[in-house]
Amino acid sequence: MAVCGPNSLMWFRKSLRIHDNPALEYAAATNGGGGQSGCLYPVFVVDPHYMEPDPTAFSAGSGRAGLNRIRFLLESLVDLDCSLRKLGSRLLVLKGEPAEVLIRCLKKWDIKRLCFEHDTEPYYQALDIKVKDYASAAGVEIFSPVSHTLFNPADIIQKLAGHPSWASSPLSTTISWLPPVGNVGNSKISNVPTLKELGYEDIIQDESTPFRGGESVALERLRAAINDKEWVAKFEKPKGNPSAFLKPATTVLSPYLKFGCLSSRYFYQCIQEVQKNVKSHTLPPVSLLGQLLWRDFFYTVAYGTPHFDQMEGNRISKQIPWNVDDRLLAAWRDARTGFPWIDAIMVQLHKWGWMHHLARHSVACFLTRGDLFVHWEKGRDIFERLLIDSDWAINNGNWLWLSCSSFFYQYNRIYSPTSFGKKYDPNGDYIRHFLPILKDMPKEYIYEPWTAPLSIQTKANCIIGRDYPKPVVSHDTASKDCKRKLAEAYELNKKLNGSVSEQDLKFLRRKFEEYQQKGQQPESKKPKNL
Ligand code: FAD
Repeated sequence: MAVCGPNSLMWFRKSLRIHDNPALEYAAATNGGGGQSGCLYPVFVVDPHYMEPDPTAFSAGSGRAGLNRIRFLLESLVDLDCSLRKLGSRLLVLKGEPAEVLIRCLKKWDIKRLCFEHDTEPYYQALDIKVKDYASAAGVEIFSPVSHTLFNPADIIQKLAGHPSWASSPLSTTISWLPPVGNVGNSKISNVPTLKELGYEDIIQDESTPFRGGESVALERLRAAINDKEWVAKFEKPKGNPSAFLKPATTVLSPYLKFGCLSSRYFYQCIQEVQKNVKSHTLPPVSLLGQLLWRDFFYTVAYGTPHFDQMEGNRISKQIPWNVDDRLLAAWRDARTGFPWIDAIMVQLHKWGWMHHLARHSVACFLTRGDLFVHWEKGRDIFERLLIDSDWAINNGNWLWLSCSSFFYQYNRIYSPTSFGKKYDPNGDYIRHFLPILKDMPKEYIYEPWTAPLSIQTKANCIIGRDYPKPVVSHDTASKDCKRKLAEAYELNKKLNGSVSEQDLKFLRRKFEEYQQKGQQPESKKPKNL
């Protein structure tokens, strides 16, 4: 073991990557005097609350995360450990309540510098206060840069208040060497645990997500997307096919952005490179670059809105008297609504943890303002647990949007649970794949199998009401009811004072679009060897 000077600790939470990782770069940097930073302890804390099996949950996984996301995280950690080892280091995995574990490490290993990516989620904000309080009192230097988003949400909010400080910091340089890991004493360090070691040995899934976790896969996926310059240049989100599952219509980079296996700033820069080299390209909000701006948009609004993840006390959310209906909620969650398009999407959620954006639109609209009139927070919870890209700001923001509680208010525009999917996939291949019970249903009936004569149902080996459920509601009646209730709720909301924040939201959206049109961007200092 090398003799070390002042020690640094790199605390990985998200940012599970080597490229464009300013916290890691700083942790590894040489000290002002030209000497090396001493030892570097790269740490990940397995939080049992997040990772341990919960046998009472409605599907395999912990109380907070479905099995697909836990597996994705473990794969990402294995990949990170592998990359760290190539740089002369390794990942130190510890287990326990993260703040307690961290504080113990700071003490035991005589850490003088603590580095971790700034996080705007309330969970991390609370955790960080505890760790920072201890570190400051103990004289430990803290470096916590913003690198999960393109811009710093706090800067943008300041800008809204009239302070001109909206800028993005440059990408960090590629790391080619890391200081050695110091002596860990008697701390309980392990390798990245397997699912079995976490207690998931008995769980058999009939289909798990096809998307593997980790920075290496993220960069491969990014390269594959970016290499198709014409596809990037013509990308128009609303035109994508939500039923394409063999080759999804979008990048499927969201789970990698969620865990920080991919830097959104590097992704942004790669898209810009493509755009510079083509004759014409689409623009925000529909372009690929526009998608990353939506991401920052939701992060900013979420950061600046107290109680963003709930209706009550949330100043940008319409107050709507949603139903509490556990039967309908369970039918939606368990893919038993009797609408094959909706149920197939929910099966994709359970099996893959990822669906196309417009598929998410369909099921979120159906649960809330379209048909079932169930509270968006209930649907949010189920997405939050099952999505592999589950992201606090983006998920809540989109549920607010889809339920017409905020951002979008045209409650008369409802996605039909029967004809919307048919436009893209008249033969119903998507439904046949995710709902094999309907695989032999003729295409004329695949979106509305309850209308098939009994002889056809018999021939297709699927009797509606026995093998596959009848619809839980009549779409015509339910959607009319929903529109009426929304109209009434909107009237009542006019009396509530929400106008100032809606103006803020419009301003913010306009600013994001202006920034793109003016070509303002994260500065480029291209990382090498990617
Ligand atoms: P691409 O179209 O390739 O876009 C590239 C990236 O841009 C995405 O990876 C994502 O980071 C970002 N992006 C794209 N669309 C949006 C959007 N509408 N809002 C914010 N950022 C966006 N996305 C999540 O990452 N996590 C979630 O928890 C999540 N929950 C959602 C819940 C609902 C009800 C809805 C309607 C959408 C939700 N989305 C969520 C947004 C969107 O559906 C996904 O980001 C997108 O489908 C991911 O696929 P992709 O990576 O192929 O996207």
